[in-house]
Amino acid sequence: MSSSAIESALLRFKSSIPSNVDLVAVSKTKPNEDILQAYNAGQRIFGENKIQDLVLKQETLPKDIEWHFIGHLQTNKVKYIAPFVSLIHAIDSIKLLREVNKRAKQNDRTINCLLQVKIAQEDAKFGIYPDELESFITNNEVNSLSNISINGLMGMASNTEDKVQVKNEFSQLLLLYNRIKNLNPTFQILSMGMSGDYKLAIDEGSNMIRVGSSIFGARNYSK
Ligand SMILES: *Cc1c(COP(=O)(O)O)cnc(C)c1O
Repeated sequence: MSSSAIESALLRFKSSIPSNVDLVAVSKTKPNEDILQAYNAGQRIFGENKIQDLVLKQETLPKDIEWHFIGHLQTNKVKYIAPFVSLIHAIDSIKLLREVNKRAKQNDRTINCLLQVKIAQEDAKFGIYPDELESFITNNEVNSLSNISINGLMGMASNTEDKVQVKNEFSQLLLLYNRIKNLNPTFQILSMGMSGDYKLAIDEGSNMIRVGSSIFGARNYSK
């Protein structure tokens, strides 16, 4: 997309969503020039799903950007993003949380995290199973980790045209979120919805959407 196209797509997109919904501009595969166009239009939260790309972009782009890691995170890569990452969306194991806590401590900070819940029917999607969420949240070790903050849940709906199914998956996540939020006031973020399903997600209570192609245009993975 040309530079002005990104600015106007961003502004148009922002004006179409409620003000209580935070927008994570998913800039994966996109060059710094594209990110700067969105930045110049006021966007400050960006999401990436590859560690190397994220580190390089963080080093070279304005320091007031809040970088979210939205991809599947491998334990051995946490150290590279621990100094600066502002939110990790896809925690799916205690082992990973333990490593995030360790690296956060080394950097003398607290790292904000979301737990990814597997709401989709597809095998390919990662996440904690809904019926394992409660024992995860109440796990003694999880609660003893002092350099992480679990701020909410993240989920990805099935990649299907069936809107009823997508809606049901989002509403299942909202139910889980509300149940935990009632017991845990640090729970404030429900990250669900992407370019194809963000409207359904907002209708079902999302307050953080992760949107890439609707802002930056289609991704080209062959480059
Ligand atoms: C790529 C990605 C998105 C954004 O996808 P679009 O369809 O381009 O909006 C959102 N969430 C995650 C986890 C992603 O990997």
